[in-house]
Amino acid sequence: MKIDISQYKHIVILTGAGVSAASGLHTYRGQNGLWEKYEIEEQGHVDRLTDHPEKIWQLFGPLRNELETAQPNAAHYALAELEKSLGTSQAFTLITQNIDGLHQQAGSKNVIELHGTIHQTKCANPDCDLKTYPDNNAHLNKAPSCPECSHPLRPDIVLFGEIVPDNKDLLVRLSLRQCDLFLAIGTSGSVYPAAHLVRFADYAGARTIYINLDPMLPPNAAFAEEYLGKAEEILPDMFGITL
Ligand SMILES: [Zn+2]
Repeated sequence: MKIDISQYKHIVILTGAGVSAASGLHTYRGQNGLWEKYEIEEQGHVDRLTDHPEKIWQLFGPLRNELETAQPNAAHYALAELEKSLGTSQAFTLITQNIDGLHQQAGSKNVIELHGTIHQTKCANPDCDLKTYPDNNAHLNKAPSCPECSHPLRPDIVLFGEIVPDNKDLLVRLSLRQCDLFLAIGTSGSVYPAAHLVRFADYAGARTIYINLDPMLPPNAAFAEEYLGKAEEILPDMFGITL
C-alpha cells in the first residue's frame, strides 16, 4: 500500500516498542510471562522511589548503557524523512511511547514523548528546585540523591503507577482534533494509548492505519486498515522514501 502524504494536512503518528525493536534494544524484551510482567511492574513502580529507589535504576539504568551504542533504524529514519518532506501547510505530530530518544536521534522534530525520556534525570521530590538535567549514567550501583534536598533522583520517565502528565495529554488531544491521517506503529492497537488515540482520530474523520508484527487482538474497529510486518520495511515503502 502506497500513501501519498501530500493529500493530508494533519498527520499524527503513534509509535511503540516495535519501532525500536530493530535497533537491538534488549530492555523489557521477553515480557511474555505474566509473572515477569508483574515483577517488572513492581520493580518499576513509583512506590519504589520511597522504599527502594535503587530498584528503579536497576530496571531502567541498563537502557542508558544500551543506548550508548544503539542506532535508529529505517523506521525511525523514514518517519524523520517523512516529516522533512512536508509542506508548510501540513502539520505533523509524532507521539511515542518509547523513552529511548531514537526518533530525535534520527532527525524527527515534533515529537511528544508520552512516557518521558531515559536521557534525563530529575528529583523525585515535586517541590524541589533542582532542574531536570541530561544524564546518561546508569546508576546501577547506587541510587543517586538530590544535591538540593537529598530525596532520590529518578529518570525523567513515567513509572508504573504514574499517569501521563496533563500538558502532554493536552498536546496529544490538540494534535488529534483535526487529524486526517493517523498511524499506530509497533504498539498494541487494543489497549491504551493506541486504542484511546485512534478513537479521537476516527471521530475527527481521519484515515486510521495500524502497522505491527502481530494482528490486533481483539480487533479494534476504529482502525480501518491493518498492515502486518516490520515497521522498518513497511514505512519506507509505504511513503516512497529511499534511505
Ligand atoms: Zn531535590
